[in-house]
Amino acid sequence: MAREHLVDEADYVIIGTGAGGATAARVLTEAGLEVLMLEEGPHLAAKDRPRELVDAMATSFRDFGTFTTAGTRPFPLLQGRMVGGSTAINSGIIWRMPEDVRLDWTKRFGLGELVEEKALDRIFTQIEEELSVSDTPAEIYGGNVEKMAEACKIMGLPGKPMRRNMKGCEGSAECLQGCAKERRQSMDVSYIPRSLAKGGRLHALARVDEVLIEGGRAVGVRGSLLHRDTRKVRGTFHVRARRGVIVSAGVIHTPVILRRSGLAGLVGDRFQAHPGTAVVGRFGEPVGMGFGATQGYEVPMRDKGLKLESLSLPPEMLATRLPGAGVEWQERLAEMDHYAQWCAIVRMKAHGKVRPSFGGGISVKFVPLQDDLDRAQYAAALLCKMMFAAGATEVYPGISGRPEVLNSVDEVKLIEEGKMRQGDFHFMASHLFGTACASSDPKTGAVDANLESHDVRGLYVMDASVFPTNLGVNPQHSIMAVVFHASEKLANAANSVAA
Ligand SMILES: Cc1cc2nc3c(=O)[nH]c(=O)nc-3n(C[C@H](O)[C@H](O)[C@H](O)COP(=O)(O)OP(=O)(O)OC[C@H]3O[C@@H](n4cnc5c(N)ncnc54)[C@H](O)[C@@H]3O)c2cc1C
Ligand code: SF4
Repeated sequence: MAREHLVDEADYVIIGTGAGGATAARVLTEAGLEVLMLEEGPHLAAKDRPRELVDAMATSFRDFGTFTTAGTRPFPLLQGRMVGGSTAINSGIIWRMPEDVRLDWTKRFGLGELVEEKALDRIFTQIEEELSVSDTPAEIYGGNVEKMAEACKIMGLPGKPMRRNMKGCEGSAECLQGCAKERRQSMDVSYIPRSLAKGGRLHALARVDEVLIEGGRAVGVRGSLLHRDTRKVRGTFHVRARRGVIVSAGVIHTPVILRRSGLAGLVGDRFQAHPGTAVVGRFGEPVGMGFGATQGYEVPMRDKGLKLESLSLPPEMLATRLPGAGVEWQERLAEMDHYAQWCAIVRMKAHGKVRPSFGGGISVKFVPLQDDLDRAQYAAALLCKMMFAAGATEVYPGISGRPEVLNSVDEVKLIEEGKMRQGDFHFMASHLFGTACASSDPKTGAVDANLESHDVRGLYVMDASVFPTNLGVNPQHSIMAVVFHASEKLANAANSVAA
């Protein structure tokens, strides 16, 4: 069969349609600029997204959720790969950028203009209005959240309902599979359709392989058209960018595209994350994890670089967390409705590196520091205590080398004692940062305070890669706000030149 070759052009070409790319498209299109979005994953309407978890992961997660850090103790780095990026599979949790982070970026990285207080406040408020951000209402707490709220009350912990970007969430606990009724205001149902309605354009199943640079300026991109079902290459494309190229392919893929396009230096360095670990509790009475907001309640512990969250899982995933074998496991399986699950995310201090590797692969080197592991251990033990406080009869800490089942709060000391190693936890990370950091000083950043490359004119990075530090809170709101601000400045500059 003949291979297709697509040729196109636009003012701005945006690579990736997640929190960063979709927000850039939203702002630039509405400023009257011609925008073309290129997305490696498919464009799926809510009705076409599979409800079964396995099919959903095959369709909308990168590599079926199996992409991991390199080395002998790998752990998964979850990323979305469809129009909407990781927002299409996330839980909708919204947090403004903490003030200490804003001040740190201003002081250490010269980003005062990018994260200027008044501008960010205005933009956070606007995004919250546009994406219907509100507290999770009590009617859709569900048993998982109610148990966590009860534990917080008993133990005097500062628990609270999460703020989420949703319009009439019905508590189907299926955010991972995508929201069937489009209640969650992820980018695929909010900023992308908004941009398309105002003249923005989108090619899905279009993977950018390289940014084209001529005379020190980004002039376009080239890449591969992918087959919808097999994802094999079925053709090529070449897109000319009249004004600039915006790379928003996420923390793992942005630095790889940049390096494959000839950029070097700090690109791919300072990779950071909030890896998490989860604890399951079994209760005498039904908990009903199948109903409620996928994530609805949280305990921020910023001074410790920790955040505890309720996290409901579909039964096929929860079953893999139940300990035992044979009759013992079957007996636990028979009580599928009796479990609660909560997780802790850790603001890790470790820095790693992302690099393209041989054969088109990607290597992510990231090893948590002992201090990171100590805090994960503290959080896991605290979650176990909270489960018992809420009335759990058994708790499954999910930590290698420690008891699989705790039967009383006295046994939590078996989790608290001794030092843990990285391989002891079943970490997973979905909050990723760094790899094309912003800094006004080219010695400490790949892009400047306008998110333009220090080395190549007309080349911008607009996603979580530009974050010079991790946040300690859920990142999508901060990504959208920072990109919103940088895109407004870009649009103003472009329009003032045109005028
Ligand atoms: C399961 C899960 C749950 C989460 N829950 C929350 C939450 O509740 N609240 C919160 O604040 N954050 C949450 N996050 C994190 C949040 O979704 C991400 O931090 C955010 O979406 C990152 O935005 P981004 O623009 O950097 O990248 P992404 O949103 O990941 O978008 C990158 C896009 O680029 C595309 N792409 C990559 N390479 C190419 C290429 N070569 N060519 C074309 N396209 C390409 C990808 O397919 C993807 O669509 C969650 C993440 C996951 C995975
Ligand atoms: S819990 Fe269900 S209804 Fe609510 S936002 Fe998530 S998928 Fe949509």
